Amino acid sequence: MSIFNYINEAKLPTFWCSGCGHGVIIKALADAFDQLELALNEIVVVTGIGCFGRSDDYFMTNALHTLHGRAIAYATGVKLANPELTVVALMGDGDAASIGGNHLIHAARRNLGILALCANNRNYGMTGGQYSPTSQFGDRSSTSRYGLPESSFDLSALVQAAGASFVARTTVFHYKNLVKYLKKGINKGGFAFVEVMEPCPTMYGKFNQLGSAGDMVQQIRDEVVPVSRWKPGSDKSPIGILCERDMQEYCRAYDDVIRKAGGFDGD
Ligand code: SF4
Repeated sequence: MSIFNYINEAKLPTFWCSGCGHGVIIKALADAFDQLELALNEIVVVTGIGCFGRSDDYFMTNALHTLHGRAIAYATGVKLANPELTVVALMGDGDAASIGGNHLIHAARRNLGILALCANNRNYGMTGGQYSPTSQFGDRSSTSRYGLPESSFDLSALVQAAGASFVARTTVFHYKNLVKYLKKGINKGGFAFVEVMEPCPTMYGKFNQLGSAGDMVQQIRDEVVPVSRWKPGSDKSPIGILCERDMQEYCRAYDDVIRKAGGFDGD
């Protein structure tokens, strides 16, 4: 196969702004599908709302375009209905951590066997550049013109604390690692979360005067450090595999409940 078996070329070019990180991320996901040699009908891509919520348009796999903040809720239903499917929830930071925040932490707690991919550009790009739960203290946005007086979520730490079995953070600059973590997340067999730091030059970049998309990618690269070299108190964020542990996956645990209750054999 090739990655173009997974990408809907008829929909290209994407509707995203020039320099947006989303295109890099969906290419990396197609690369991961291809390297794992997954069949198109084995995959379900689930999206919510926002610029990244349009991602499902660009895949040839099964796709489900749902409500704002509800990608994981729908992905939960799909996975429980057919645990053999590879289910990937694609979310921006607002979608995943604000409107969908409760779904995110509880899917992690349950160890539902899906990959949750968060494209983190620290704002709501589609609706005009409002601040999001991952905007940084002091950030300027259309709803924090004089600087944001709130601290941000560390999403990877949050999901790790909630009980996920696999958590990795990387950036669009680190493409090979991004593909590697997506493959590991798909194969994990538990709740896998991959956070990808990326630029939104049109909104976040404009409000914070961060220069071109290329300038922003370099800034994102310089804000992170491999987790092996990261120390608590550092002003940089750790990237790499932040958590990997083995626990019973939710669908399997649920099958046990069904068996104990005398219902059908879920296998
Ligand atoms: Fe990407 Fe931002 Fe443009 Fe949305 S507004 S497509 S997030 S660059």
